[in-house]
Amino acid sequence: MGNKQLRIAMLSIHSNPIGELGTNDTGGMSVYIRELARELGKRGHRIDVFTRLQNGRHQPVVDLFENVRLIHLGIPNNGQLSRLALYPYLPDFFKSMENFRSREGIVYDLIHSHYWLSGRLGNWAQERWNQPHLAMLHTLGEVKNRTGVGRPEPELRIAAEKQLVKNCHRILAPTDREKDNLIRYYGVCGEKIGVVPCGVNMDLFNPQDKQATRKQLGFDPDDSILLYVGRFEPLKGIEGLLEAISHLKRYRRLRLVLVGGDGSEAPESRRLKRKVANLGIEDKVLFAGRVDQRDLPPYYSSADALVISSHYESFGLVGLEALACGRPVVSTPVGAMETLIDQSQTGYVVSDTRSRSLATGIQSIIANPNLTRADEIRKSVLKYSWSNVAAAILMEYETAIRQQVFEDDHLMLARASCG
Ligand code: UDP
Repeated sequence: MGNKQLRIAMLSIHSNPIGELGTNDTGGMSVYIRELARELGKRGHRIDVFTRLQNGRHQPVVDLFENVRLIHLGIPNNGQLSRLALYPYLPDFFKSMENFRSREGIVYDLIHSHYWLSGRLGNWAQERWNQPHLAMLHTLGEVKNRTGVGRPEPELRIAAEKQLVKNCHRILAPTDREKDNLIRYYGVCGEKIGVVPCGVNMDLFNPQDKQATRKQLGFDPDDSILLYVGRFEPLKGIEGLLEAISHLKRYRRLRLVLVGGDGSEAPESRRLKRKVANLGIEDKVLFAGRVDQRDLPPYYSSADALVISSHYESFGLVGLEALACGRPVVSTPVGAMETLIDQSQTGYVVSDTRSRSLATGIQSIIANPNLTRADEIRKSVLKYSWSNVAAAILMEYETAIRQQVFEDDHLMLARASCG
């Protein structure tokens, strides 16, 4: 393949890469697709990202970045459907995608699918177009279910994921832990999996002065400020984080700022607010709402630490963003945290997801808020630039393309030998 400029179909059916980050269906995966596509586009590859038309606001085709287009596929009334309710519409999406492709006369060199729903489309596309398919699952239903937290993922998802990992040509995992999960729970052969970490936008996420950003955001200069950033869902363990704060009531200046969520009237926000009231920590917790990603760096910089309280993460982009802003991270042992965090230097990975353990990690930060200089913390994650990540993913694309050629030849030889 060498320096060939690729045409890539990226599939992200349930989540729109230009949707509102921090809300239920739009999180790290959207950031990943956007940043990767932008980086590949800069290198001259041409990317079409297929997603669903959610609210009629968007044009059918949007020029996102240099060489990157976002294609909105519409089917009647599909706007606000939940993830699972999209499943029966997948054949319609595929038809709509295929119409677009044949109308434009495009031959894609590779299909890169994201999440199991798009993986299903990817399986159909690899058959119809006879092209390599690399799948990134982002989260695994089986692993989610094993945490026992939140509503269980349906058997349909697990079965679809198993079929996807069996049929696609290559799988991308963001950590060795996720690779092990794919081997253990999905029976994937390790050689089929490439491990490439996620990245961070180093230009956007930069250290800023702590006191200046506190002033800008109206936070108290003398408080110990902890920050949570992310979607509001049970798997994120926000309840446990609130309990940890209640264990630390004796620290009178401790504050927790929660960024993200679907608005104050959303069921999960209301549930968490009730919990705050029940724990009697209203004076310690601030619900700051969803914040545009462009405006997040001052939040990270104003904090003494970011806290990740999740029961499961496939990677945990917010951890990387906080470190790029020079702030330490206290985290449960999830995603890439053990790799990203230098224990007692750039943060603490606590032993498990119990609120008492989280409280211990938080206490260590309160006792020592200036663990390491901001520029040193940032230096520890410089290698996670999207440019480096895209270069590694391009190598995975090459492997997927070689694999497809190999499988095709194999099939041809088998057919020939059968006469
Ligand atoms: N995010 C945001 N605004 C918010 C909340 C979150 O821009 O109000 C972004 C955040 O910067 C991060 C992403 O959403 O890039 C969340 O990714 P992560 O991998 O931490 O969690 P996921 O959503 O994939 O579970």
